Amino acid sequence: MSSNGNFIDEIGNTPLIRLSGPSERTGCDIFGKAEYQNPGGSVKDRAAWWIIKDAENSGRIQDRGTVVEGTAGNTGIGLAHICNIRNYECVIYIPDNQSQEKISILEELGAEVRQVPPVPYKNEMNYQKQAGRFASSLRNGFWANQFDNTANAQAHYESTGPEIWRDTDKKVNAFVCAAGTGGTIAGVSQYLKEQNNEVQIVLSDCMGSALHNVVNCGEAVMSQGPSITEGIGNSRVTDNFAKARVDWAVQVADQEMIDLVYELYETENLFLGSSSGINVCGAIKVAEKLGPGHTVVTMLCDTGEKYRSSLYNPDFLKSKQLLVP
Ligand code: PMP
Repeated sequence: MSSNGNFIDEIGNTPLIRLSGPSERTGCDIFGKAEYQNPGGSVKDRAAWWIIKDAENSGRIQDRGTVVEGTAGNTGIGLAHICNIRNYECVIYIPDNQSQEKISILEELGAEVRQVPPVPYKNEMNYQKQAGRFASSLRNGFWANQFDNTANAQAHYESTGPEIWRDTDKKVNAFVCAAGTGGTIAGVSQYLKEQNNEVQIVLSDCMGSALHNVVNCGEAVMSQGPSITEGIGNSRVTDNFAKARVDWAVQVADQEMIDLVYELYETENLFLGSSSGINVCGAIKVAEKLGPGHTVVTMLCDTGEKYRSSLYNPDFLKSKQLLVP
């Protein structure tokens, strides 16, 4: 697999797709922003490019340096492409419970992948902390630090937010999305609130995450998990999430998400990953609460390709006591 020079130019300007089933059911216009059309296949290409661009502009990354990151996979895929274009080495720390598909893509792109046990953030062996330590041990290392490097949120403030405002003809009433680093919800919410303070910003949280409680009662208390989702949910308020202007939060259980992504596959020909499912379920809940006639936008972060062995594998679902639709 190779990256060509157009990769960077092709990031962003993804289409808004009207989800006809969810729209008809709620009487609203529910749009999904097709982030899987980014050249690396996910919403995280935006953060990866903004983080590298910011590091280059501020002289924090050296010629032929090594980019190191702790990632659930998609940011790593974006970074690995950009490293190939810019001649940087790429070292990725990833929890070993993430999909094999993402690891294979990273390896095919030439990144060095270090799979580590999934341990909580407070443990020094957490994948993010290991990435930071390894980067600082290198002479030419740069830690992308997507969780607390706010160049991540800036990507969405400068690109995703304006695209949503433009493509809804300024009619967006609510923006709903899950958070991993919080970069997307932070950047989009800041931009949309600046255009119209009435736009509702809603966090759609998976189970096993503390962010729902952070929004609703100000305390980072984990909800009951676990969840088979990847790339979303968090146990702490990152520097990116701290910038988000969230009005309220909804929670989505894995079974609801699974039923919906299978339905969208059958009825809308959309083959989506788990975070997209959490997002669309959240958007439906928000549309039901707002009532008919509203415009609700959410993110379709990546496709089901990377989750063939999990979300789209009946044996995997059964092993997690989940029902196969
Ligand atoms: N969906 C997927 C598939 C992701 O990989 C991520 C990032 N980890 C997110 C959603 C969450 O986006 P953000 O980090 O901007 O909160």
